[in-house]
Amino acid sequence: MNNQHMSPGQRRRFLKTVGGLAGFATLPLSYSSRVFAAEQLVIAGPKVPDIAATRLAENVYCVVSPWGFPSVENQGMMSNVTFVTTRKGVVVIDSGASKQIGEMALRQIRKVTDAPVVAVINTHYHGDHWLGNHAFVESNPDIPIYAHEKTASAIKTGQGQFWSHLMERATGNATLGTVVTPPNKTVVHGDVLDFGNTKIKVHFYGTAHTPSDISLELVGQSIVHVGDVAMDNRIAFMDDGSFRGTFKNYDALEAAVPGALWIPAHGHPGKQVLVHNRELFEGIYQSAERAVKEFAGPNAAKDYALNDPRVQKYAKVTKGFDENIGKYSSLAYLEAESASF
Ligand SMILES: [Zn+2]
Repeated sequence: MNNQHMSPGQRRRFLKTVGGLAGFATLPLSYSSRVFAAEQLVIAGPKVPDIAATRLAENVYCVVSPWGFPSVENQGMMSNVTFVTTRKGVVVIDSGASKQIGEMALRQIRKVTDAPVVAVINTHYHGDHWLGNHAFVESNPDIPIYAHEKTASAIKTGQGQFWSHLMERATGNATLGTVVTPPNKTVVHGDVLDFGNTKIKVHFYGTAHTPSDISLELVGQSIVHVGDVAMDNRIAFMDDGSFRGTFKNYDALEAAVPGALWIPAHGHPGKQVLVHNRELFEGIYQSAERAVKEFAGPNAAKDYALNDPRVQKYAKVTKGFDENIGKYSSLAYLEAESASF
């Protein structure tokens, strides 16, 4: 059946039904052949337009996504897919928000090298960082997919289906056909993944943006992929995170790899990414601490933040700032309040 032969109403109803079915197709990797079988039952969303990879170093590339929340227009393309070419093959860090985005990233990889993709690393459990795993398992059914243990378990339990459905809904089913494909290898702080001439070291310093963010250092290159621990001119989704934990992460990362090029999963890589994020977050968090000290409530935390020169400096250039500053001030207030006891 070809969905293009349906009326818009029929197509919507059909996609809705199929979307519901597809949403339950969580399969462990050892059943990857069944992933393909399941896939034949569903209509896949359309291709995602190519975004050429930006070369960051001789062996490091990033498909830098435009800013946005998942929408019909962007088909879920809202976070970067980074890849590293090594003697053993290509390593992908964060695979995008759908199979289609993973496939788009794979097309960009093919413009650089014919080498196989030999590993995927997911920085945390938000769906825009791992739903694309499906594409890489199709290209290599035995591929190891690395993540922190809590990231892997979150995806296997509630977060997997939650993000799969969220992306389908938000994109008008553009991500349809994407099967939840959780990480199959876990890593801990200090682990070094050896790809011959390239070694990738895992850094984990507790809750920052989520309870299980890992940052990935390209050893000897002063390059660190920080996932969503820091963003470039964007404000992070902090509902699962911690401001204090974020500062602790920045301290530890800056001490471990001073002067690094930081690759965020949203926005452009740069050496100032952590410095800028810290300033903005300190402006928000210290305003909340002041409001807590004065028993002034979360509204005062927001007012203080809006009047803080550090926050003002970034307000205009930070995407999503106006819509979210109330929420971030409230989260900072709750955290500052519980930290004050
Ligand atoms: Zn995230």
